[in-house]
Amino acid sequence: MTAMRLHPTARDTVEPVAETECPVGTPGRRRLPLRGKPDPLRVRNPGKENVPPAGYGRDAHMRTLVYLGPQRMELQEAAIPAPRRGEVVVRVGASGICGSDLHGYLGKSRKRVPPLVMGHEIAGTVESVGEGVRDIGPGTAVTVYPFITCGRCAACRRGDTSLCGARQVIGIDRPGGYADFVAAPRASVVPVPPGMPVFTASFAEPLANAVHLLDRNAAGLVRRVAIFGAGSQGVLALHLARLLAPAVLVSVDIVPARLALARRLGATAAINAQTDDVAARIRELTGGEGVDLAIEAVGSSATRQAAVASVRSGGRVALLGLGEEITPLPAVDIVNREITIRGSYAYTYDDFVRAVELLGAGLVPVDWARPYPLEAGPAVFRQLVTDPGDLIKAVLTPAAE
Ligand SMILES: [Zn+2]
Ligand SMILES: [Zn+2]
Repeated sequence: MTAMRLHPTARDTVEPVAETECPVGTPGRRRLPLRGKPDPLRVRNPGKENVPPAGYGRDAHMRTLVYLGPQRMELQEAAIPAPRRGEVVVRVGASGICGSDLHGYLGKSRKRVPPLVMGHEIAGTVESVGEGVRDIGPGTAVTVYPFITCGRCAACRRGDTSLCGARQVIGIDRPGGYADFVAAPRASVVPVPPGMPVFTASFAEPLANAVHLLDRNAAGLVRRVAIFGAGSQGVLALHLARLLAPAVLVSVDIVPARLALARRLGATAAINAQTDDVAARIRELTGGEGVDLAIEAVGSSATRQAAVASVRSGGRVALLGLGEEITPLPAVDIVNREITIRGSYAYTYDDFVRAVELLGAGLVPVDWARPYPLEAGPAVFRQLVTDPGDLIKAVLTPAAE
């Protein structure tokens, strides 16, 4: 697999270190050190990350945030899971709210069947291990690769594990991370570099989507990139695309606060699709040609069509956003201009580990996201689907309470 090309000056800030214990399936992988920059979100809660919530011990009950049906979410008590053979139980330190969970919350995801504890962007500390687990122990800081794959189907054998026909996802097909504790197979937990704040570690999962997308779509020379959507996936894709050092890096959205953030995070131009003709503006910015790569991180027909209209002849459109099932696209234009359109779904285990490394190297800041207590879950979900304002990404932090 082609490694993602990093900007040389960015890579120069990273020194190789001695190998430490590696997660299953990635023998000999190099670990990257932290830059030593304090994470502002960690400083806000000094020393509290590993404090157990009062009253929640072993053989006791824990708090879970349960999805009960469209726009119904409730805090409930449940038994703390005991690790089965080959499993570990993780004390959840941080569990990010994904756009797909919001989709589920609105009742639009067929995969999320209530009652369900969602949450698949999980980081925390190993609390206990089941029979047969010998290479990891309580106290290890980990993040969770949420896909459980069969290892036997044609997709798994090709290495396309995210396309496994028998895949299960923690937080969709079994209880997820909006809880004090979550059980996961040993193969799903990935140790994180020492000192990485748990809040940062929870971004391995969402960032892995962007690693996967850019790995598959930015192999050639990418000088001009447009990213449709400045939500959390759009912002993470922006961070990674910036490491490719494109001359033009355009962010497109309809929320002024998000466009301002995109500019602050390194977009060379920000276009408001509500007030501007996006394709015309992008042609202006690219000498009349269009961008080499358009990343669609919204999932609406309007943005998919604008993405196709914004790429140069021979250019590429990478579709990441879910949302609308069917979108009419200009087939003759796609043929005449030899445009490639490619979907990007989730990530492989290797993409996930690379996301951990990028976070560990301090190459992807996460200070644009906000932490919330688990109790705030129902209110945060409501806010995110009704009036998010400048809230782009919310992360629930059960262990900090
Ligand atoms: Zn997600
Ligand atoms: Zn499989």
